[in-house]
Amino acid sequence: MRLFTPLTLASLILAAPVAAREAPSPARLKDSVTTLAAFGTRHSLSTTTDPKRGIGAARNWAASRFAAIGRDCGGCLTVERISRRFVGPRAPNGVVIEDVLGIQKGTDPNRYVIVGGHIDSMRSDVMDSVGDAPGANDDASGVSLVLEAARILSKEKFAATIVYAVFSGEEQGLWGGTLLAQTAKARGWQVDAMLNNDIVGNSIGQGGLKVADRVRVFSEGIRADESLAEAMERRAIGGEDDGPSRALAKAIDGVAQALPGKFDAFVDRRPDRFGRGGDHEPFLAEGYPAVRFTSAVENWDRQHQDVRTEGGRPYGDLPEAMDFDYLAHVTAINVGTLARLAAAPAAPVAVSVSGALSRDTTVAWKPVPGATAYKVYWRRTDRQDWADSRTVTGATETLLKEVPVDDNFVGVSALSAGGAESLVTFAGRAPRR
Ligand SMILES: [Zn+2]
Repeated sequence: MRLFTPLTLASLILAAPVAAREAPSPARLKDSVTTLAAFGTRHSLSTTTDPKRGIGAARNWAASRFAAIGRDCGGCLTVERISRRFVGPRAPNGVVIEDVLGIQKGTDPNRYVIVGGHIDSMRSDVMDSVGDAPGANDDASGVSLVLEAARILSKEKFAATIVYAVFSGEEQGLWGGTLLAQTAKARGWQVDAMLNNDIVGNSIGQGGLKVADRVRVFSEGIRADESLAEAMERRAIGGEDDGPSRALAKAIDGVAQALPGKFDAFVDRRPDRFGRGGDHEPFLAEGYPAVRFTSAVENWDRQHQDVRTEGGRPYGDLPEAMDFDYLAHVTAINVGTLARLAAAPAAPVAVSVSGALSRDTTVAWKPVPGATAYKVYWRRTDRQDWADSRTVTGATETLLKEVPVDDNFVGVSALSAGGAESLVTFAGRAPRR
């Protein structure tokens, strides 16, 4: 009797690093959310000097958590606080917006992956900076996820630097996201992925609908920073479903499928919920791949509402309306995605295809630093998911026999020596910036 077929042996070997990684703790996530809700309000214009109440105390607490994680890993995580003054309709007299960052330096000098959530909260009246605004799900859930991801991943070493970001000013105008996206640009960071987590800890939606096995991952298909020339190029060759952010969402879907628990990442094919936005958008504006995670079903009685009961119906964003096993699942998907992309080489910058008037397609790309192999994908143009793939070693070009370029889309990813895979770069005539 054979104990192991080659397939089960291979899957055991592949599963080993994931099995060794600690799973996110629902209890620890709940502790963080409860602590954050207990600051009373975390409104961006609330007190920054009170030691127990307001956004200043909450940001100090987040910084202290990053510092503790850094001490536990022998200094692998450092804390940085960046700030800038913003003025807008929701802060007419201006406010200093501060982001608290935990930075886990990688071995590559300039590659970054970012995970973020916003620490600020709001009441029914977005201008009320004094009354209670517990903001448990929106967005202490995202901040707790970021802290838990930092704690787990600080036990490993990666090629890319991981930035764990706690944003302020989201409700006043996406200012914390804007601050970090523009800081990244000014410092010349190559951001390979940005994961925004905003409202990720509830499984009961409006009217009692329960969806506990799915999270939505919103992504743009067409890049926000695309030039007119690039738009015309895309019009000619396709690629509407293959922008870098969509490739990121598809990668997340793959990470979710590989985790235990049958928890689905729903690749929601628009930048955000209809007519609404979040902190990933300033990153998209700078040309960085970015997505938003949000619970499958929202409960609007529990978002942006003063805590109260009306006619026996409870309102308010309290920890009691959350599901911490659900939040732990979403955290695990983030952790898996960050680990994969931080261990992988960068995605290929430019991939070209040729083969007009031929039954075959030639695929070529520029070498990627740190890549030991490449994976070439293709699918028929009437499909959304890659159907076939081939691993290429020792070359930056391959011929796909009997794969006509007219009827197939092609993409290429880069692989590390350990098998970690980058995002897939869509093959076209124009190079990706
Ligand atoms: Zn939010």
